[in-house]
Amino acid sequence: MKFHLVTLGCQMNKSDRERVATIIEKMGYRWTDKEETADLLGVIACSVRQKAIDKVYTKIHQWNTWKNKKNLVTFITGCLLPADREKFLKTFDIIFQISELLQFPEMLHQYGIVTPFSIRKDENFILKEEHANLHADFQTFVFDKNNKTIAGQPVLMNKPETRISEFWDIEPHYQSGFEAFIPIQNGCDKFCTFCAVPYTRGREISRPSNEILDELRKLIEKGYKSITLLGQNVNSYGLDKKGNEKTFAKLLRDIGEYGKKSEKDFWVYFTSPHPRDMNDEVLKVMSEYECLANQIHLPLQSGDDKVLIKMNRGHTIKDFYRIIESVKKYLPSATLFTDIIVGFTGETEEQFINTYSVMEKIRFNMAYVARYSPRPGAASSRWDDDVSHTIKSKRLHLLSDLLQQHSREHNKEMINKNYKVLVTGKDRKKGYLSGLTEGRIIVRFASENVKLIGNFVDVCIRSAAGFATEGTLHKVYNEELAEA
Ligand code: SF4
Repeated sequence: MKFHLVTLGCQMNKSDRERVATIIEKMGYRWTDKEETADLLGVIACSVRQKAIDKVYTKIHQWNTWKNKKNLVTFITGCLLPADREKFLKTFDIIFQISELLQFPEMLHQYGIVTPFSIRKDENFILKEEHANLHADFQTFVFDKNNKTIAGQPVLMNKPETRISEFWDIEPHYQSGFEAFIPIQNGCDKFCTFCAVPYTRGREISRPSNEILDELRKLIEKGYKSITLLGQNVNSYGLDKKGNEKTFAKLLRDIGEYGKKSEKDFWVYFTSPHPRDMNDEVLKVMSEYECLANQIHLPLQSGDDKVLIKMNRGHTIKDFYRIIESVKKYLPSATLFTDIIVGFTGETEEQFINTYSVMEKIRFNMAYVARYSPRPGAASSRWDDDVSHTIKSKRLHLLSDLLQQHSREHNKEMINKNYKVLVTGKDRKKGYLSGLTEGRIIVRFASENVKLIGNFVDVCIRSAAGFATEGTLHKVYNEELAEA
């Protein structure tokens, strides 16, 4: 019996996929790269982007045609809006919330089972869910193929907090042997008006810090070199526990202390922090420990205060500059990454120019710039998407050109200097390997020694382009891996 998974969306979904694979493998399935040979096909979906949902439709349409020739079961989980769950009910055999993963084997045995989350019609389901929590656990009902309840089979479900904690307990099937994601939090309380995450993943729940530290220690002892702490709002970690959990800064400090004692060589990243919750304590801790990587990904979204209010971001541009000043003070060599949306509902030329000028001042190393598109379920989807595609594209290109110019200038400053690089794989250029610096700048160098993949080397940078650099191998940290 073989299985294949399609993962869409962000790093959180990629991390969730590792736990989904564990559960499926425990049921006796083996992975196949070829989806046409699989007996079980699943999607870890993302309702946050319409493009990702369109991809799901294409996939399931194709998979369902294969059902004429073979026994095939399909399922979908991940970040799904109630409206999408309802639509997919007609096309997939099984739909479940990611936190219900432990119940998946049971669902699979009763082909066609769905849970209350897959049939909920109300966009405000989260409020109802919270209300339900106060009184009783959920019930999952079993449905037959005609969508009728099978009598006498209600299944008691745990509260969301218990379910997500059971989910985190699942040992992930890590996809890499040297870099891993550790989820430290699920959900989001911020309700940015362009984003559907609070409706797909629910309210913020922090994972117990002892579990995070345990998972990290295990990975480091196995020789992992790059760990990314994941959360939708990673730096509001612990706030939902109202004083009964470590703050994000304290969690980082504990990781830093472990790194110091272990004497192992590794880098720890986190993504994404929210400007609202970014404080000097976090930056100060980062400056004190070598294993806490000098790289900050801080989403700007817009450089205009009025747009930020409309987006419900809860901070001003002045606040953002203040954080950047602190980053320069505590982490002068840190690279800065950001996310920007152009053409948000009602964005004027002047408001866009404000974003452009913030970009000019901060000179990010990297920015993920996206054209605004309404996401069903998000508050802004009820507003006019009134900036034309042409204007959005023009703004996107202007920011991309500026970004490329800044990135090239930053990268040129690296020339003739040695940088520690984690080798991540073969480069597209034949005879070259590529990797990332601590600041996540791409470096390629001539070598066919694939034993270096997953290990640290030093590279002397010789040339720089828009988003990458090239250099010569200077030192291999683990000398046993060096070629004679
Ligand atoms: S902070 Fe805003 S953009 Fe990020 S997940 Fe929460 S609602 Fe979405």
